[in-house]
Amino acid sequence: MSEPVRLQFTAPKRGMPPRHFTDLDQDQRIEAVTELGLPKFRVNQIARHYYGRLEADPLTMTDLPESARQKVKDALFPELMTKVRVTEADGGATQKTLWRLHDGTLLESVLMRYPDRATLCISSQAGCGMACPFCATGQGGLDRNLSIGEIVDQVRRAAATMQNEGGRLTNVVFMGMGEPLANYKRVLSAVKQITRPAPEGFGLSMRNVTVSTVGLAPAIRKLADENLSVTLAVSLHTPDDELRDTLVPVNNRWSVAEVLDAARYYADRTGRRVSIEYALIRDINDQDFRADMLGQKLHRALGSRVHVNVIPLNPTPGSKWDASPKQRQDEFVRRVAAQGVPCTVRDTRGQEIAAACGQLAAEERAS
Ligand code: SAH
Repeated sequence: MSEPVRLQFTAPKRGMPPRHFTDLDQDQRIEAVTELGLPKFRVNQIARHYYGRLEADPLTMTDLPESARQKVKDALFPELMTKVRVTEADGGATQKTLWRLHDGTLLESVLMRYPDRATLCISSQAGCGMACPFCATGQGGLDRNLSIGEIVDQVRRAAATMQNEGGRLTNVVFMGMGEPLANYKRVLSAVKQITRPAPEGFGLSMRNVTVSTVGLAPAIRKLADENLSVTLAVSLHTPDDELRDTLVPVNNRWSVAEVLDAARYYADRTGRRVSIEYALIRDINDQDFRADMLGQKLHRALGSRVHVNVIPLNPTPGSKWDASPKQRQDEFVRRVAAQGVPCTVRDTRGQEIAAACGQLAAEERAS
């Protein structure tokens, strides 16, 4: 259509933070404490503080010998992120936190409290290289991958917030900034640390963790083979290649058919229902024929193992696009459902604080 968009699959190496406890596997952790002259049982003690008590400052870990605390801190617990600002919406139920990383990179995560659950929306990259034209993050390009620790620590902080309120963090969605499957190895390790039972992880239920992707088909298949049962969400946004080539530029590499094939493979391997994300954009992807085609293609590819989440578009600043009128939205949902595919409208929290879907862009980029 217009000039070709540049996709960024690999991130520059610069800017990664110093090593953190959560970046290391068990053997590496043992090696690290041994280097500090500590016995290896200290690893599990530290892990209990981090994952169980949600505490990341060794100076407060009073069951460590006093002489060891500073050493452990220096070697394994660099300050990964500092809070810049918290913005609230929905009467305080939704909270967006802006974090500054060690290299000045800015990052956002959003905590949403509901009567029966608390969901944290986290980022997997600083910026994003997938260039979707309706997404605020996509407009700025990719700064760098987040480290394992920077992903995991977003979860620890929110879990601690919930714990202080006498509640519990129950859900994590990789729907903040970045394409999680483009930072595959770190995201995979983070998912394991989020779901393993304490003291090896935060103990969230696998099915309450959602990895959302633009549709990197080979990576979806790889994830299917990891023996996890996290929820996969695929950002489809239209059932036809012609429009999807523009809305989700990576479609030029992996087509709708290839993405749905990979999604089916995921459902087969994991037994999980796949979520399909559909940002409804007025006069762009909201027509009757697209609703029908979406329902048909999904039904053919996934049978009953699929659920469509319609997300009213959150217009990004300066965008020529808008959400569809309510009537159009209702008709779209009705038509998809008529094909036997469950379809609901996603409730969009945090709209007035630019914390809703696709708006996490860390407006004040490090200056
Ligand atoms: N890169 C991943 C995850 C991040 S975005 C992905 O694309 O799936 C999470 C969801 O928000 C995706 O479905 C994305 O397409 C959607 N989204 C992005 N910008 C949006 C906007 N302005 N309005 C509504 N949804 C948007």
